[in-house]
Amino acid sequence: MSTCRAIFQNFKIFSKPVMGLMNYTNQSVPSYKFLLQNHIRNRRLDLARKLFDEIPSPSTHLCTIMITGYTQNNRLDDALTLFDKMSFRDMISWNTMVKGCLDCGDLAMATKMFDKMRDRSVVSWTTMINGYLQFGHVDKAERLFYEMPVRDVAASNSMIHGYCCNGRVEDALRLFEETPCRNVISWTSMISGLDSNGRHDESLFLFKKMVGSGIVPTSNTFACILTACANVLDVCLGVQVHGNVIKIGFCFDEFICASLIMLYANCKQIEDAYNIFNEKLHMNVVVWTALLTGSGFNGKHEKALTIFSDMIIMGILPNQTTFTSVLNSCWKLEAIDRGKEIHMLAIKLGLENDVFVGNSLTVMYCECGNVNDAVAVFTKIGEKNIVSWNSMIVGSAKHGCGQLTLTLFKQMICAGVDADEITFTGLLSACSRSGMLQKGKSFFEYFSRYKSNKMRPQHYVCMVDILGRFGKLEEAEELIRNMPMEANSSIWLALLSACRMHSNLEMAERAAKCILDLEPHCSAAYVLLCNIYASAGKWSDVSQFRLKMKQEGIVKQPGCSWVNLKGVRHEFLSGDRSHPLSEKIYQKLDWLGGKLKEFGYTPDKRFSLHDVENEQKEEMLSYHSERLAIAFALVSTVECSTITVMKNLRVCGDCHSAIKLIAKIAGREIVLRDSSRFHHFRNGTCSCGDYW
Ligand code: ZN
Ligand code: ZN
Repeated sequence: MSTCRAIFQNFKIFSKPVMGLMNYTNQSVPSYKFLLQNHIRNRRLDLARKLFDEIPSPSTHLCTIMITGYTQNNRLDDALTLFDKMSFRDMISWNTMVKGCLDCGDLAMATKMFDKMRDRSVVSWTTMINGYLQFGHVDKAERLFYEMPVRDVAASNSMIHGYCCNGRVEDALRLFEETPCRNVISWTSMISGLDSNGRHDESLFLFKKMVGSGIVPTSNTFACILTACANVLDVCLGVQVHGNVIKIGFCFDEFICASLIMLYANCKQIEDAYNIFNEKLHMNVVVWTALLTGSGFNGKHEKALTIFSDMIIMGILPNQTTFTSVLNSCWKLEAIDRGKEIHMLAIKLGLENDVFVGNSLTVMYCECGNVNDAVAVFTKIGEKNIVSWNSMIVGSAKHGCGQLTLTLFKQMICAGVDADEITFTGLLSACSRSGMLQKGKSFFEYFSRYKSNKMRPQHYVCMVDILGRFGKLEEAEELIRNMPMEANSSIWLALLSACRMHSNLEMAERAAKCILDLEPHCSAAYVLLCNIYASAGKWSDVSQFRLKMKQEGIVKQPGCSWVNLKGVRHEFLSGDRSHPLSEKIYQKLDWLGGKLKEFGYTPDKRFSLHDVENEQKEEMLSYHSERLAIAFALVSTVECSTITVMKNLRVCGDCHSAIKLIAKIAGREIVLRDSSRFHHFRNGTCSCGDYW
């Protein structure tokens, strides 16, 4: 009571000391209204109610204000009780109550209220239509819309927007054409709807038509049209719109600012995007996020991370989109330490269970080689969508955790989520990487029978891998020859690498021919074939192919491995001696070489491409880039910690055998990501089961 009194006294409405709230009964309605609204605006709901209770026979208008206060603060029960007690209810109070139910997320109650109404205004109908749309019930909204006795343009606009949000663009277009007095909102909704449904060109066309028919665009229209330009990469039209925006003075609008940044970033004019940002017209999260996303899109991931740090320093709170973009840049840089810091921040902001942030964290941990943390994050995601399931299924498959992938798939089906083509790719690659022949075959059969419209070349690549792994080369070749679609070079490449594993020279030559017919400069095919010839000791064929590669100007990508340590990337090429710690690294490798011999390791010289003397071959093998990187990590990290190494090509067979033993000798887990998958080396074995 005393706080209440103090507040009243501050308003100096009362001439004498306040003894009790009954003293105010002689206040006129406008002062009650002012006080009530002031309390509500400042979220002092209980004080508002106390005041309200002191009003002798409050008017319908005051009751409605009180109800709005309750629903705005999610106190629907209080609002309903008050509404029930009202002696007289007008149209506004009914409409307020329906809207209040919707604001509090109670669609059923809103429907009940709406059905109870004896008279309904255009506002009542439109409110209820918007309610259905807000909850995704576009059919119910549509039915109501056509039941409306008089349809105004606001209701039509709501329906146009609702159709577009639910992918029903044709219905939206039909209604748009039928709407008699279209206003700028109708046009903008239709332009934005076409764009967000991937019909960017039509969106731009409609914009031109709108301007042509003399309708003046609003800042919203401009933001939509700039986004459409960004999507179709139409920088010319974008620049024109930008000019108009400056003329009219709309560049102060934050969404326009963000759309302009996106336009220039998408069109690879990132400097122009930075210039717009540097004008510092808007320093809010939308604009910062546009800049961050744009930088990542242009491959400037370091810059993206800097932008994120700057934004935090400026006190701007990141939203879901910001997290998605910055985590994407983290894994592109393999910067797991930064990723972990960002994860901590997401927890602090209460966004850890958010589906978008959770999905991005899952991908980040998987891509950085840490599948356990990925699972931990994935488990905590509140409402998992298809992207969440796919991220975890594909991620676990990459790590060769076949059982985990299958368990996830079962859980996904139980959760009622329908598998799509990405799920299938994840499942099949899990079968290939974990050596599950029968499972792989039955999945593949199931997909081709029941989901044939979702079959993609990628699924054939996986199936050829699976068959190849088990030496079923003829079956694999037959599968390719009987495909319902044209086989691409990736499918033949899968067969070619299976031929290398099983030393099938004859089929390898056939597969290589098919690849080179499709893609004459495919260096991977040349390199694989050379490897196969070298393993078979056919050095004349090797040199012939080498010569051909030279003539055709095909360069073999040099093998390169790297380790990220405290935010610095340490890169190594084969036989590289340029690293400052070179001496220590080579000492470690020589020591390891001795130990490896003790463990009975003999170098597999088939993997040395060069036609040189045996001893030299051995030396070249032991200085392959992945071994240099591992030796560097061994001398630079604390004992027992896990080592993570990345390689641009596939790890060679000899290094693979050596690394298994190195993991055992050093007592470390070594995670190696090569171009095809993750290998987890532990105590003399590898998670891939020696097939990759
Ligand atoms: Zn190697
Ligand atoms: Zn392996």
